[in-house]
Amino acid sequence: MSEWEGSDPLVIVRGEGCWLIDSDGNRYLDGVGSIWTNVHGHAVPEINQAIKEQLDRIEHSTLLGLTNDKAAILAKQLVDIAPEGITKVFYSDNGSTAVEIGLKMAFQYWQHLGKPGKTRFISFRNAYHGDTIGAVSVGGIDLFHAVFNPLLFKAIHAPSPYCYRCELCPEKNHNHCQKECLTELERLIATNADELAGLVIEPLVQGAGGMIVQPPGFLQRVRELCDKYDILMIADEVAVGFGRSGKMFACQQEGITPDIMALSKGITGGYLPLAATMTTQQVYDAFLGEYRELKTFFHGHTFTGNPVCCTAALASLELFNKKQILAALPPKIDYLAERLGHIITHDHVGDVRQCGLIAGIELVKNKTTREPYIWEERIGVQVCQEAQKHGLFLRPLGNVIVIFPPLVISLDELKLLMDGIEASIQTICSNS
Ligand code: PMP
Repeated sequence: MSEWEGSDPLVIVRGEGCWLIDSDGNRYLDGVGSIWTNVHGHAVPEINQAIKEQLDRIEHSTLLGLTNDKAAILAKQLVDIAPEGITKVFYSDNGSTAVEIGLKMAFQYWQHLGKPGKTRFISFRNAYHGDTIGAVSVGGIDLFHAVFNPLLFKAIHAPSPYCYRCELCPEKNHNHCQKECLTELERLIATNADELAGLVIEPLVQGAGGMIVQPPGFLQRVRELCDKYDILMIADEVAVGFGRSGKMFACQQEGITPDIMALSKGITGGYLPLAATMTTQQVYDAFLGEYRELKTFFHGHTFTGNPVCCTAALASLELFNKKQILAALPPKIDYLAERLGHIITHDHVGDVRQCGLIAGIELVKNKTTREPYIWEERIGVQVCQEAQKHGLFLRPLGNVIVIFPPLVISLDELKLLMDGIEASIQTICSNS
């Protein structure tokens, strides 16, 4: 806080495509997609127009006892693009609550099924699911979460699939990976199965933990374990959903259907706050019953299903189709891979990780021993500050430089981004 008090942040007043423009007229390429959310760039005419028209119709009513046309149409479209078998939508307005709702839904599902002992959750170390109390309880990043420990419910934390710094594999090398983390996950699930309501996972990439990319097949195995031990799989697609991985949803990369899926961020193309917790007919049906049985899901926010936000989401989905956003991704993903393949040769780059148009570059003090830079050196912050001189806006995760641009970034812009990052790492790390 005291560091922040002395800081002088950029004041962004305008956006144009993938660019942010500050109050002095300086332009910065939005390298982190306005915190992992922007899909189509800023000030997109089609989305702006749709929002303006909706504002002239109605800005908000409520979903309590009513619905609105935009929320209903969007629900249908979300079901159409979701993994096979996900057919129901419950709205809220940010990623944390989308997860929170998933937790409550899973908990109550087992109560209705007559298994009241299934009350606990298993998640992963290095997981991030949001900043509300339930989401923090299943989170696994000590730096953010440890201070709140006395406030939290006790979740079980399995090892993070973090190959570069694996807790379990002595070689710490994904070429030798025996998936020890999955063996340990199964042991933890098997020991606690009678008490477990659900497993929560960020599919394919643990974002805030440092853009930690899971080994291929990891997610499929997690799905198998959830089936084998009869627990609900909650996929937190808040960051990885809406095209980031190269497919619309990360779960689709491994051909799996979770029982509950949390969405936010890219749902509106990154325009306005909206979230959805989607689920299957099976989970939904558990909440049906006679009036006197009181099978109600008690969870409602004032701005749930807001029609302006739903309109932005509909306009974004239309652009996904019209501009063939997913089909345009492979050359960008390949180019990013090529540049990361060069960046890894730098003396202070320990690991590079990529999934679709997401990447993390882990900076290390000593490449041979993998010794990290100490927190006080703020190496990630220094590199990102240097990158501002190259016209980039970036935000690190500790020693990891994050790449998470709008999906519509052009190849030329991606080149600018990678040139600037490479030059900034060279300037800052070569002297450290
Ligand atoms: N889950 C994941 C995987 C996230 O990355 C985030 C946000 N970074 C959240 C949940 C929380 O979303 P929000 O900030 O909208 O509450």
